[in-house]
Amino acid sequence: MRAVVYHGPGSKEWEEVPKPKIVEDGDAIVRVDAVTICGTDLHILKGDVPAVTEGRILGHEAVGTVEEVGPGVKVLKPGDHVLVSCITACGRCRFCRESRYGLCIGGGGWILGHKIDGTQAEYVRVPFADTSTYLIPPGVSDESVLMLADIGPTGYEVGVLNGGVEPGDVVAVVGAGPVGLSAMLTSQLYSPSHIVAIDVADSRLEASKGFGATELINNSREDAVAAIQQLTDGLGADVAIEAVGIPETFELCAELIRPGGRLANVGVHGKPATLHLEDLWIKGVEIRTGLVDTYSTATLLKLIASRQLEVDEFITHHFHMDQFMDEYDLFARAAETGALKVVITKP
Ligand SMILES: [Zn+2]
Ligand SMILES: [Zn+2]
Repeated sequence: MRAVVYHGPGSKEWEEVPKPKIVEDGDAIVRVDAVTICGTDLHILKGDVPAVTEGRILGHEAVGTVEEVGPGVKVLKPGDHVLVSCITACGRCRFCRESRYGLCIGGGGWILGHKIDGTQAEYVRVPFADTSTYLIPPGVSDESVLMLADIGPTGYEVGVLNGGVEPGDVVAVVGAGPVGLSAMLTSQLYSPSHIVAIDVADSRLEASKGFGATELINNSREDAVAAIQQLTDGLGADVAIEAVGIPETFELCAELIRPGGRLANVGVHGKPATLHLEDLWIKGVEIRTGLVDTYSTATLLKLIASRQLEVDEFITHHFHMDQFMDEYDLFARAAETGALKVVITKP
C-alpha cells in the first residue's frame, strides 16, 4: 500500500510501505476511504513534536471501512463503516473510566500518526478498535463525519465546554483556523450574544462569518482589547478561546476576559507563555487547558445527522491520495489559499 511517511523535519513522501497487520487482540485493520490533514501534522513536519520518529506514517483523522478485526474485537465487524477518531481509548484505565480518553494511560490517547502509524495511508491499524471508532449513521456523508475525527470535538470540548459558554455570553475566539472556527460553530449551541473572531488573516476572518462570528477583528491593525472593552461596557469577554498556540495569543486571551471570566486554551504550544498573575490574582478568572477527549463525538454525530450542525463549510478542497504532496503544500499556505480542511479520497 502507499502512505505519507515522515522522514524527519521538513521531509515526507507518499510512498510504498507494507500493509498493516493485526498485532493486538483488540486491533482492527481499516481501509481508509477519506482522510484529512491537520495543523498538528504541520507542527510535526517542522520538528515540533519529537515523539514522532522517522519512518512514521502521519495522520490521525479518517473515515473508513473495517477490513479485518482481531479476536478481542466484539462490536465491530468487517464491512462496518466507521469514523476513526484522533483519540484512541483503551476503555479500562482510570482516565478512560472518567471519559478522559485524551489522558489514557492504558496505551491510548493521541497515538495515531504520533506514536504509531497513522491514517494518511490506504490502510490503518486501529488499536482498541471497539472503543476508538464510531459507526457512521445512515444518511451522513463521509466528509461531514471526517470533521468529527478531530476539529469538531476539539473546538467543542476544549474550547466551548471548557470555556463554560453560557446563553448571552460574549465569546472571543483568538485564531480563526479550523479549530477556532469549530469553537465558533459549536458555541452557537449555547446562544452567546456575540462571537468575536480575532485573527491576523483577513481571509480567515471572512470565513468566520459562515461559522457564526458576529464581529471580526484583525489584530494586526486593530486593538482587540479595546474593541472587546467597547463591546462589553469596559468589562471584557465572558469567555476567551485561544486557538493559535503562541505566547502572544495566550497572553491576549488573558487580557480579553472580564473579572470572573473564563479562558480556554486549545492551541498547541511549543514555547513558554507569561501568565500575568500580578493582574489576574484578584480577578477570579478560570483558565483551562487540555487535549481533546472525544467524549462528545457521539453527540456531535447526532447533531450532524439531524442537520443542527452544518460542518460542510469546513471543506474547501477535495483531492485524491496520489496528490498528497500537493495537498500538504496547499494546506501549509492556508492564509494564501484559503484552505480550511481538505478531504482526500481514493482515486
Ligand atoms: Zn489534529
Ligand atoms: Zn485508557
